[in-house]
Amino acid sequence: MPQTSEPRHLVVVGGGMTAHRLVEALRSRDTAGSWRITVFADEPRRPYDRVALTSYFSRRDPEELSLGDDALWADELVTLHTGTPVTEIDTDARTVTDDLGRVTRYDELVLATGSSAAVPPIPGADLPGVFVYRTIDDVAALRGWVAEREEAGRGTSYDRPVRGAVIGGGLLGLEAAGALRALGAQATVIQFGSHLMNAQIDLGGGEALKRLINGMEVGVRVDTATEKMVASRRTGSVGRLDFTDGTRLDVDVVVLATGIRPRDEVARAAGLEIGPRGGVVVDDTCATDVAHVWAIGEVASIRGACVGLVAPGYAMAEIVADRLLGGEATYPGADTATKLKLSGVDVASFGDAFGTTERSMEIVWADPVAGVYKKLVMSDDARTLLGGVFVGDASAYASLRPMVGAELPGDPSAYLLPEGTGGAPDLELPESATVCSCNNVSAGEVRAAVTEHACTDIGAVKACTKAGTSCGSCLPLVKKLVGTELARLGITVSTALCEHFALSRAQLYDAVRLAGTRTFSEIVERFGRTGSRGCDICRPVVASILATTAPAHVLEGERASLQDTNDHVMANIQKDGSYSVVPRMAGGEVTPEGLIAIGEVARDYGLYTKITGGQRVDMFGARIDQLPEIWARLIDAGFESGHAYGKSLRTVKSCVGSTWCRFGVQDSVALAVLLELRYRGLRSPHKIKLGVSGCARECAEARGKDVGVIATDNGWNVYVGGNGGFTPRHAQLLAEDLDTDTLIRVIDRFLLYYVRTADRLQRTAPWIEDLEGGLDTVRAVVLEDSLGIAADLDAEMDAHVAEYVDEWRATLEDPEKLRKFAPFVNAPGVSDPDLQYVPVRGQMRPATAAERREGAVLVAPATLEVRS
Ligand SMILES: Cc1cc2nc3c(=O)[nH]c(=O)nc-3n(C[C@H](O)[C@H](O)[C@H](O)COP(=O)(O)OP(=O)(O)OC[C@H]3O[C@@H](n4cnc5c(N)ncnc54)[C@H](O)[C@@H]3O)c2cc1C
Ligand code: SF4
Repeated sequence: MPQTSEPRHLVVVGGGMTAHRLVEALRSRDTAGSWRITVFADEPRRPYDRVALTSYFSRRDPEELSLGDDALWADELVTLHTGTPVTEIDTDARTVTDDLGRVTRYDELVLATGSSAAVPPIPGADLPGVFVYRTIDDVAALRGWVAEREEAGRGTSYDRPVRGAVIGGGLLGLEAAGALRALGAQATVIQFGSHLMNAQIDLGGGEALKRLINGMEVGVRVDTATEKMVASRRTGSVGRLDFTDGTRLDVDVVVLATGIRPRDEVARAAGLEIGPRGGVVVDDTCATDVAHVWAIGEVASIRGACVGLVAPGYAMAEIVADRLLGGEATYPGADTATKLKLSGVDVASFGDAFGTTERSMEIVWADPVAGVYKKLVMSDDARTLLGGVFVGDASAYASLRPMVGAELPGDPSAYLLPEGTGGAPDLELPESATVCSCNNVSAGEVRAAVTEHACTDIGAVKACTKAGTSCGSCLPLVKKLVGTELARLGITVSTALCEHFALSRAQLYDAVRLAGTRTFSEIVERFGRTGSRGCDICRPVVASILATTAPAHVLEGERASLQDTNDHVMANIQKDGSYSVVPRMAGGEVTPEGLIAIGEVARDYGLYTKITGGQRVDMFGARIDQLPEIWARLIDAGFESGHAYGKSLRTVKSCVGSTWCRFGVQDSVALAVLLELRYRGLRSPHKIKLGVSGCARECAEARGKDVGVIATDNGWNVYVGGNGGFTPRHAQLLAEDLDTDTLIRVIDRFLLYYVRTADRLQRTAPWIEDLEGGLDTVRAVVLEDSLGIAADLDAEMDAHVAEYVDEWRATLEDPEKLRKFAPFVNAPGVSDPDLQYVPVRGQMRPATAAERREGAVLVAPATLEVRS
């Protein structure tokens, strides 16, 4: 309830991760509206997830990293000034001044200015081609540089992979090296210390890590100091690194990942107390030494140090929100547990990883061949867990990290043995154990999400608690806790299709495909409950599977009885019991003759017409017995079934493209037509929609589709997993600059992999999310054939294309199939009295219940006079 007095004014300097958390926490708790908040952010965008910065290379769209929903930033009590650095603070007048010279008064001020990347004083560090790795703009510039170098070398004697080096072998340096590799560049990590990640793991772990990193074709040089960076005489940009031991490395690009520096310059100038190693000194309440000024996140020097991790920053944001509302929260101390986010390299450390606790003991398991090193640090009686290091296999990390300070049940070494060798007792996490340290969520809160808030899947638990929504390293543990809790409540999370099949849809698909079974009876006999006739769940699923593994007409023999209501009549039933008719208009293209034919059919049968979102015309109000006549006329006019009724390809939406549009770089309509004709009739776990745009302006909104194609100067970018519906998702980039043939193969494989493995009624977005490894797995399967099934998928799609027949044309040619379209089985030719209509805007619509009662309605006649 908004209060009557003026809200007080909180000014936040810095628009990063902790600023967002503070705004979110304050707005959700300040129900009285006692604070209005103004955020000054010097980056040109909303706060974003810096922890996930590296994923920008695969997602590309900075929007996808944004933190806070539209409602938060549109809140009338929140003002966000992006691209507006604060240049001065006057703590006496309680004002801040921004770079435009505007002065803003505050009641309370929070500094959340984070850090900048440290640039070591190495001569040449300012050369073109030397980058830091901190902001979206930094990674965008790095990506642009690598692409430019690659382009410049093409077709010349310098046509070779771009040579990259990362100075700094810590968490950030390894992430940056992974990013360089993902961009197609070579990468060498230069580490000043004795081993990689030396702030988090010990020498043994560092050695194992080096082997793993080498295995990713990333070079590693340890104990190496860079003396200078030398410009290439040819390009003038960075061309060589000279090391103090006299050796050199030729490079085209360098990333500096040598640490961070708190951005305390404005605070320093305002006279706030600064720590010996920088950062604004705060106490355990996050208050600075000046009244009404607080500091949170990486810029805050708390208990003598700034912490370069998001979890302590989030904790500080929560404390300030609490205190501004009269609470008494204090800093609990920093959880410095870390997990490397580098695909294929599992590294984690937590607690007292170096065994600095007096009389602590270390238990180590090392398998140099497998590249695994694991260590637990225990109290002197080997019972209490103090910390640990995992390299090569960090599967136990999520479960063990919350146990720091607690007694481990059983022999600690059992937790280090490879999975499957047994021995490690299940850990029963105490309620208070922090499961997600980024968002400070305890085991108790995750359990309560299931028991008290009725969350029955991981998505619901994430939305309810925020656990697992930042770095994601706790997700395995959250899943385990949710599973245990559901089991305790007697809720089995079964993957069985239904009571007739214990197999999941994906398992059943494989079984049917491999066994070559062709009928429901055979399938249920072999893979289901013998003697059963199936149900509304498994029968349409089997029909859909058979449509791909053993194509036949939907109404052929036993198949007809397996279909959903709509497939059964090849039309969509409407609320009044009538049907709609949707002919295909591939790519949204239609000739004037086609439009006239549709108009005539609609007029002659009194059908209400509407243009659909999929760029075609829908005709409503047809009776079941009229469907064959209507389709006969449409087929004569050159149309075919649009499959608007099926769990199958719906439409391929396109913009006008290069043939008409002056911005277009490719012919999007031609491609859309080609794709729609290729995938028409492909039965799938749910409906599938595609879109093609002729340039980056994206007029076809292709990124809202299951498969979105956007033209580039060099070909096509393909995006996957876009969905509308209840939970809209933007499609994510799968591959870039493909030529048309490659693009088609990529889409073939993507669609068939989805058809084979998705759950029943699962759209592509949740399917990708549920896949182990998500989009990376899709990429590996589709682009790199990691499962060795590409040839199989290609053959399956080729067969689908070759065997396609129009379902309506085939129906009209078969009297047996036509018999299903009689209105009343006992009285053919008699009108259905339930179909009653009233006029609306020059057409007709179904009568409402009141209109029917009043009787003032037009009753649909049995037949209409139609033109011959
Ligand atoms: C690639 C990468 C990976 C990371 N991975 C992890 C990880 O796995 N786990 C983890 O815990 N942490 C990770 N971090 C660190 C994490 O991102 C930071 O700890 C977190 O962002 C700190 O939040 P903050 O709000 O203090 O600072 P920031 O998020 O840096 O935000 C500060 C903002 O304030 C702005 N600003 C500065 N001065 C001013 C001014 N005078 N006026 C206006 N605005 C100003 C800055 O431009 C910046 O946008 C990673 C960081 C990077 C770069
Ligand atoms: S996406 Fe590009 S090509 Fe297509 S209509 Fe829009 S501006 Fe034109």
